[in-house]
Amino acid sequence: MKVLVTGGAGYIGSHMVKLLAASGLSPEVVDDLSGGRREAVVDAPLHVGDVGDSAFIDAVLARTRPAAVMHFAGSIQVGESMREPARYYRNNLVATLALLDAMRRHGTTRLVFSSTAAIFGNPVHVPIGEDHPKAPINPYGRSKWMVEQALADHDAAYGLKSVCLRYFNAAGADPDGVLGECHDPETHLIPLVLQVASGRRPHIAIYGDDYQTADGTCVRDYIHVQDLCEAHLLALRYLAAGSASTGFNLGNGHGFSVREVITAARRVTGHPIPEVLQARRAGDPPSLVADARRARQTLGWQPRHADLDTIIGHAWSWELRHACWTRP
Ligand code: UDP
Repeated sequence: MKVLVTGGAGYIGSHMVKLLAASGLSPEVVDDLSGGRREAVVDAPLHVGDVGDSAFIDAVLARTRPAAVMHFAGSIQVGESMREPARYYRNNLVATLALLDAMRRHGTTRLVFSSTAAIFGNPVHVPIGEDHPKAPINPYGRSKWMVEQALADHDAAYGLKSVCLRYFNAAGADPDGVLGECHDPETHLIPLVLQVASGRRPHIAIYGDDYQTADGTCVRDYIHVQDLCEAHLLALRYLAAGSASTGFNLGNGHGFSVREVITAARRVTGHPIPEVLQARRAGDPPSLVADARRARQTLGWQPRHADLDTIIGHAWSWELRHACWTRP
């Protein structure tokens, strides 16, 4: 089964490509390499180009004729989306609509879409199940929620079947040590904390300690990238079985504060990791924790690396051994 993976040179996409290949499927990657890395694409052909470029994506679909598309490509930073919303609507919404048009032209009827917990905004309750109100508070979340709504309409009108997977905080690295997280610039908490531990940064900034949480810092539900990818594989099988379009929240159901993550990283790495308190980052909800029971029940999803120290430990191995392929 041929699967087209957009953003397959990026963090989660590259782990997905490796898992698809290991599972006997045939992934092909589309990536414009604006955020992804050529070195991250293992075991799959890479088509370099922009998902929003209709002529390019038409040519790729004509050549590959995939049974399904996994759409990871997009812009992912909450803070940047507040400063540059146009980029988010262009890369996440407009480009996805172009991809959907191309899929329709080529008769590709199945899509697994990378969505986000940011579609929920400030939670009215935690943990957050699929029925929680969708009220995103930043352009990143809004752009993803708009795509989710467009996908529902595309199913009703054109029969496009999709599964939207709302990631909570993707973290960790390939347990085999081949792949890991490599954003430039890096903005995510766990890789930044580990860059402090390895001496690449002087300190970790804590963005606000006056939130309505137990220690005042933001609480997030960190989910291992490998567990996320396994959920995608199950979603693919779900669609292949002819099941209805839907969405699933993906997290472990345990929230950790920024301070708890830093403490865990000190424990795992044995490094002191200096911290500096800074102002809040615009667009951050205080607490995001998933209720992922639906994914467990419907897809049979079973996270295997739920422990925070394991997640940080895999990311630490990656930081020490590869550090984005820039060091030996
Ligand atoms: N955060 C922080 N310092 C950093 C990076 C992130 O305090 O250098 C906080 C951020 O404000 C948020 C949490 O860590 O509350 C997780 O942020 P991240 O960017 O990793 O993921 P997000 O929740 O934005 O998807």
